[in-house]
Amino acid sequence: MPDRSADTVALPTETDVVVVGSGAAALTGAYTAAARGLRVLVVEKTGYLGGTSAYSGATIWLPGNGVLVRSGVADTVEDGLEYLRHTVGDRTPAELREAYVRTGPELVEFLERDPDVEFEALAFPDYFDAPGRGLPMGRGICPLPLRGDRLGDRLDQLRPTIAADQYDQPVKRGTLFGGQALVGRLLLALDRTGNAAIRTGAALHSLVLDHGRVTGVRVGPDGAGSVGARVGVLVAAGGYECDPERRRALHGLPGADWTSAAPGSNTGDALAALQGVGAAVDLLDEAWWCPATLFPNGRAAFTLGLQGGIFVGPDGARFGNESLPYDRMGHLLHERMRRHGPDAGFWWVFDSRTPSVPGICQPMPDPERFRAAGLWHSAGTAHELAAAIGVPADALRGTVERFNGFARAGADADFHRGEDDYDRFFATGTGPNPALVPLERGPLHAVRIVLGDLGSKGGARIDPSGRVLDGEGRPIPGLYAAGNSAASVAGHVYPGPGVPLGSGMVFAYRAATAMREATQPVG
Ligand SMILES: Cc1cc2nc3c(=O)[nH]c(=O)nc-3n(C[C@H](O)[C@H](O)[C@H](O)COP(=O)(O)OP(=O)(O)OC[C@H]3O[C@@H](n4cnc5c(N)ncnc54)[C@H](O)[C@@H]3O)c2cc1C
Repeated sequence: MPDRSADTVALPTETDVVVVGSGAAALTGAYTAAARGLRVLVVEKTGYLGGTSAYSGATIWLPGNGVLVRSGVADTVEDGLEYLRHTVGDRTPAELREAYVRTGPELVEFLERDPDVEFEALAFPDYFDAPGRGLPMGRGICPLPLRGDRLGDRLDQLRPTIAADQYDQPVKRGTLFGGQALVGRLLLALDRTGNAAIRTGAALHSLVLDHGRVTGVRVGPDGAGSVGARVGVLVAAGGYECDPERRRALHGLPGADWTSAAPGSNTGDALAALQGVGAAVDLLDEAWWCPATLFPNGRAAFTLGLQGGIFVGPDGARFGNESLPYDRMGHLLHERMRRHGPDAGFWWVFDSRTPSVPGICQPMPDPERFRAAGLWHSAGTAHELAAAIGVPADALRGTVERFNGFARAGADADFHRGEDDYDRFFATGTGPNPALVPLERGPLHAVRIVLGDLGSKGGARIDPSGRVLDGEGRPIPGLYAAGNSAASVAGHVYPGPGVPLGSGMVFAYRAATAMREATQPVG
């Protein structure tokens, strides 16, 4: 792909609202402000628009919204709130959770008023067996696919899929799906307002603070360009997942290469800018974790939807229910990788039942390239496989035999795999428990897995209007944050599919709404 990050930009000296970043949160905030009559400038660091949001599946978790209702999904805002109460607990303020869930239906209704924004329900269960869970469909929605040519000149600016951007797959621009369609649709809506300008290749350097109020931004490597923001600045520039130093310090692990975010994009400079004006921060030790398949180029691909195989650690033993929702498995991996060290081998062991890996990776691994890189091994027996991957042979053989016994019996006495609705959502096994597929058709395979993430999750503390709070819990006038630049409303858990995007979009919408209200005459 061409490197467009050096695009020259002409910046206005002043506008109403500056939005930093161009992912789903940023574009939702920009569109909301522009549709309500404010002049908006979007500044995006890279040459592409869309950030990690353009890579995403674009599932958006908004309980009780109108798209679910018209699709016949029985769900309510109250159920969604109850579910968050039970899953997130008191780790985040109750008023933030309320604001998130109660605003979802209004946000969807507002976005769908634009002719280019349309959603449909997407079946994908919530991630915890807790009161209020959305079953059996879950409560996610996603954008309808979009023809690429509808975007005109913007099409070249849209960040390609992760497969094309990071794994040398062909760029497909014909019909846009998932995050590509989400970002594309938000761009169409934003451009139609006629109130917004978008500048790529313009990185936020720092925020301008004047008598305690944020009044603009400095952009560029040395902060030489400055733009005044008459009404406010919304920072929605993702997290710090691409910054190895912060990850080492905050996550206790290296592994910036293993994030799914675009290399060099979300390096945490926005977090530094927020902290530079006194923002309080929270949840910096967290991320939206996932197991990831390590690729020969050093990147790690988000892996979910296991239909077979088991995960084993350096001791050759299983360490959890492999069908767990990805962030829950990620937390298990995080804890073990901290204990064993980041270089310790964790492996996905499966048999030859299927021609390729029994799960969803982006993109699918090519066995020969993986073998050459030492990331895929095959062997006739568990003993031989253990020697290849460096785990104790008796342990691995015992693990496989024990698991096969569970599969035949239909019950996983160790980790209860297959007992939860989520475990069975992707399962295709034909035995008594479809999530337990015995490893009995040789040869056996082992593919290296690591701890990946979909983005970091800690950032500026915000109030229900998306206003950034200082160390005393007071809003910093003129400053707003959303998406992964803000501390997540979900605390230490990932409650269900689409919470990162859903919560980011809601708080950006609320921030832009608050900015609009701030410009209205009182009385
Ligand atoms: C494969 C995959 C699938 C996923 N599927 C889903 C899903 O279905 N549902 C869901 O909810 N989540 C999903 N996620 C997670 C989700 O995509 C991210 O958490 C979310 O997109 C983050 O959105 P954001 O708006 O905070 O930031 P981003 O979308 O990452 O956008 C941040 C933007 O800010 C820019 N930026 C960074 N620093 C600066 C700066 N200093 N100045 C200016 N710009 C800057 C970046 O270049 C980037 O373009 C998925 C992630 C991956 C990788």
